[in-house]
Amino acid sequence: MKPFMLSVNGMLFDSANYLDVINPATEEVVAPCPVITRGQFEEVVQGAQCAYESWRNVPLDERRKTLIAIAEVIEQHSEELARILTAEQGKPYDAALNMEVAGSAIWCRTMSEMDIPVEVLSDSGTKRVELRHEPIGVVGGIVAWNAPLIISLWKLVPALLAGNSIIIKPSPYTPLTTLRFGELIQQVLPPGLVSIVTGTDELGQWMTEHPGIHKISFTGSVPTGKKVMQSASDTLKRITLELGGNDAGILLPDVDPKQVAEKVFWSAFANSGQICSALKRLYVHEDIYEETCQALVDVANTVKMGNGMDEGVALGPVQNKMQFEKVASLITEAREQGGRFLCGGEIPDGRGYFIPVTLIAGMTDGDRVVDEEPFGPVLPIIKYADVDDAIARANNTIYGLGASVWSTDMDAAIDVANRLEAGMVWVNEHSTVSPVEPFGGIKQSGMGVENSELGLLEFTHMKMVSINR
Ligand code: NAD
Repeated sequence: MKPFMLSVNGMLFDSANYLDVINPATEEVVAPCPVITRGQFEEVVQGAQCAYESWRNVPLDERRKTLIAIAEVIEQHSEELARILTAEQGKPYDAALNMEVAGSAIWCRTMSEMDIPVEVLSDSGTKRVELRHEPIGVVGGIVAWNAPLIISLWKLVPALLAGNSIIIKPSPYTPLTTLRFGELIQQVLPPGLVSIVTGTDELGQWMTEHPGIHKISFTGSVPTGKKVMQSASDTLKRITLELGGNDAGILLPDVDPKQVAEKVFWSAFANSGQICSALKRLYVHEDIYEETCQALVDVANTVKMGNGMDEGVALGPVQNKMQFEKVASLITEAREQGGRFLCGGEIPDGRGYFIPVTLIAGMTDGDRVVDEEPFGPVLPIIKYADVDDAIARANNTIYGLGASVWSTDMDAAIDVANRLEAGMVWVNEHSTVSPVEPFGGIKQSGMGVENSELGLLEFTHMKMVSINR
């Protein structure tokens, strides 16, 4: 692969320092990634500030056109971006190309049509009161490693549409797709409007502390989210926090396990479980418990895991060694606690951070694999007898990202949905996302939302204008 460069004020720069990006399927180095210096970072912030001063005055329709131009660049280079994404993240090439890269272009196109309204709050003839939404300034986007490109776009698209400039920091585990994307889009952007900066976690702190950055949109873990909030408080930055989740799904007794198994399976195991809003705890009524376990095993048996570039592979490895070890330790502890392994659970020898699809029966609340977010291909299946009890257990967590209920009885399902404490509740599906639906958590899963017009407005300040005629 050709060297990856930092985009600083529209120009490409190298760095004296590098970190190696590892392919999780082979444990080989994909490519070195530049580590930005403090001096270069200061230039980036200054450039972003200058770009913002002009961009905020560019008419909304022109900003929309720029987003379409970005979508076109993504589409023209989709195969290259998807290959880099599979190499560094591990996800199957088909998912990289047709979901993450294609989705990134769709986000640009769909959100580019959204409006930033001027609301008239009152108009009496002599006095008119308006609520306007104005850009914030320089946005810092800090991104996790599970879906580096599309999470970057979830920040970039609304930031630019609202009239801000943006500096994006991908995770040191998966920086390359975003670096290449940053390089490619410079041709359709004014200098400094979008910068991609890479380095270690310390760079994240430089961003959250910096007085020249006015908003942080952060996606990552709960502990890091707390650090971001603390660090951003010095300059009272605006923040959106998209953090971890430990989503529960509840199968009501009327569900036909064979009918829902495929959908439930992919709700939990897409991207090898490395999705913040994946289904991570499955509560199943005792009447359908054994049948559900079997139906999920039957789906698991049809799914091939391997190197994402190989034909027919539907699931890749865990993205990095740290996460691999965390998931492995949850499995070991579940075994020691007497969990019944329906499939998986044995970690193969050989190269790559592969953890087979692991379905564990016989676990309950209080067990670490139930209480903690695995963020890997492991699903505990928990038996319940009473739906009120299942709802209470689903809600008994610090997290509040997503939750789901599955049933053919819509009244019963909606009653459960009403009582689930989460930022997103799905009926008969889980973890679906769309540019027009708000995405975000409550409790310690974060604050604020991304996507939809509500997410767009998080990249603006409200300004009340009272006009006395
Ligand atoms: P992480 O918190 O370790 O890292 C996230 C980002 O923060 C990385 O870019 C990292 O370099 C940076 N960072 C680290 N320390 C920092 C600091 N002190 N200040 C500022 N930035 C810092 O998370 P991760 O391991 O990359 O991602 C996995 C977690 O992200 C999971 O908990 C997952 O659920 C969550 N996640 C949430 C969403 C969502 O939208 N809610 C989406 C994807 C992932």
